[in-house]
Amino acid sequence: MSYEHELQVLDPATEEVVATVAAASPEDVGAAVTRAARAQAEWAALAPGDRARLLRRFAATVDDHVEELARLEVREAGHTLGNARWEAGNVRDLLDYAAGGVERLTGRQIPVPGGIDVTFLEPLGVVGVVAPWNFPMPIAAWGTAPALAAGNAVLLKPAETTPLTALRLAGLALEAGLPEHLFQVLPGEGRVAGAALVEHPGVAKIVFTGSTAVGREVLAKGSAHLKRVTLELGGKSPNIVFADADLEAAAASTPMSFLDNAGQDCCARTRILVQRTVYDRFLTLLAPAIESVAVGDPADESTQMGPLISAAQRERVRSYVAPDADGIRGKAPEGPGFWFPPTVLTGVEPHARVAVEEVFGPVAVVLPFEDEAEAVRLANGTPYGLSGSIWTRDVGRALRVSQAVRAGNLSVNSHSSVRYWTPFGGFKQSGIGRELGPDALTAFTETKNVFISTEGPAQ
Ligand code: NAD
Repeated sequence: MSYEHELQVLDPATEEVVATVAAASPEDVGAAVTRAARAQAEWAALAPGDRARLLRRFAATVDDHVEELARLEVREAGHTLGNARWEAGNVRDLLDYAAGGVERLTGRQIPVPGGIDVTFLEPLGVVGVVAPWNFPMPIAAWGTAPALAAGNAVLLKPAETTPLTALRLAGLALEAGLPEHLFQVLPGEGRVAGAALVEHPGVAKIVFTGSTAVGREVLAKGSAHLKRVTLELGGKSPNIVFADADLEAAAASTPMSFLDNAGQDCCARTRILVQRTVYDRFLTLLAPAIESVAVGDPADESTQMGPLISAAQRERVRSYVAPDADGIRGKAPEGPGFWFPPTVLTGVEPHARVAVEEVFGPVAVVLPFEDEAEAVRLANGTPYGLSGSIWTRDVGRALRVSQAVRAGNLSVNSHSSVRYWTPFGGFKQSGIGRELGPDALTAFTETKNVFISTEGPAQ
């Protein structure tokens, strides 16, 4: 197979080359799996308290390097500095939270006649984490932290465009005293290094975050070995605004509900559904909020939105927005960098491409609805089911709509972000399985049931 031997990392705000990184071949992946399997056996044999202590030390080491990791994220992913600091801190928190679960990862004793029945939660072995470029650090850690805590080894394949923070995290793990080869990073192309991980019989589970199209392929290829998979895929999430809502608060919070990370967020609320009786008023409130979003140098502390990740991504986003389309447009810098202005399209048909496909850029549509039933129908009118927001002052309606919308993560009168201590994942074609939250470690174990007879051997 022909493949790139090097990855060039570009700064999306300037298009300058930041670094060149060696890309893993299928043979490199195979060798890494062998090393990881050895390290895993030793890791799983450690006392739980010792594993927990090492993971807490890893968290503390990350904490000591938050600023360095954040600056690296700004350079390779164009994230705003504020977001990047939060992301590095999130890795620390995920490690701390997972470390707290190591000694609490207990099985059960189940009453059965004639003996004792117990369950063990055993590690899976070697886990492959395939991460996207949109939140390189947190998403890598969503899989890595609980997998390590549950006694597994981890091979992390970062996205082609964003390998630098992942490589640095692997270095910090060693500094913190984690065993060599327990957590390895394999930068490389998805169809080469990623596919090799998915197809390797020595990898017990794949945690994949990325597009629905590649997720389907991972599921199909992994099935050759009945591989365990968690899939975190695309989204096209609604932001439902009822006439009885606090419209000022809803409008003020709407811009960053889909512009955060330049809209390259699987949870971006890109379908703004507004009850017809307040549609005009809502747009009047929304326009100045969109126009005043600060778009620019991501390293500037006051910037709210940076560039898109690449020229290819900007072309993709452009293909959804006709130059003369009606709507509201914000500002974006001219010149080098992959910029696209905040954009809200009006007068769009509910079934138009831009209204149902994931754009993954700073583009949303506003659609009017008549009543609660139509709001729910529109909200559920895509193949995705990841997130969504509901704005209303009516508690009954908030609960009814929360139950009727087929999505894994909803927020009422807010656009809540992902929390490491609550479960996260998608309905429908947004994914399979859940990450984060109190059950995160269990997803990286097999349950073994053992029955011990108390009757003694038959005479
Ligand atoms: P992508 O599917 O192109 O790539 C994701 C990762 O998979 C990358 O590391 C890539 O190299 C690798 N990959 C590509 N082809 C592969 C193959 N054949 N086998 C194995 N690995 C392969 O996605 P992307 O463009 O990097 O990320 C954007 C997508 O991720 C969006 O659709 C977004 O919604 C989704 N996403 C979902 C969540 C979630 O939690 N649901 C979170 C973030 C991003």
